[in-house]
Amino acid sequence: MAELLNDYFTPGWRERRHECACNWQGDSRAMQMDLHDEVTDYACPECGNLLLIVRHPDLGQVRAAAAAGHPEARQQLALLEEAERLLGPR
Ligand SMILES: [Zn+2]
Repeated sequence: MAELLNDYFTPGWRERRHECACNWQGDSRAMQMDLHDEVTDYACPECGNLLLIVRHPDLGQVRAAAAAGHPEARQQLALLEEAERLLGPR
């Protein structure tokens, strides 16, 4: 059964060990990543079983995490603001 992670900025989820029904064990970095609009799926590299679904952060979550000093959120916010500046108001 895949686990749904609603908060992308939850500390340590990339390093957390998961165990698959096929006995494979490892963290998200060893899994097969599948990027979608709203979420990224992580599947077992051995059997393709879906283990983890990570919801992408919305702008409010990025801002909140950046304000809390989350390094990745600060980077993302800088990129988002740069993109906004280049594209102009929509
Ligand atoms: Zn597996």
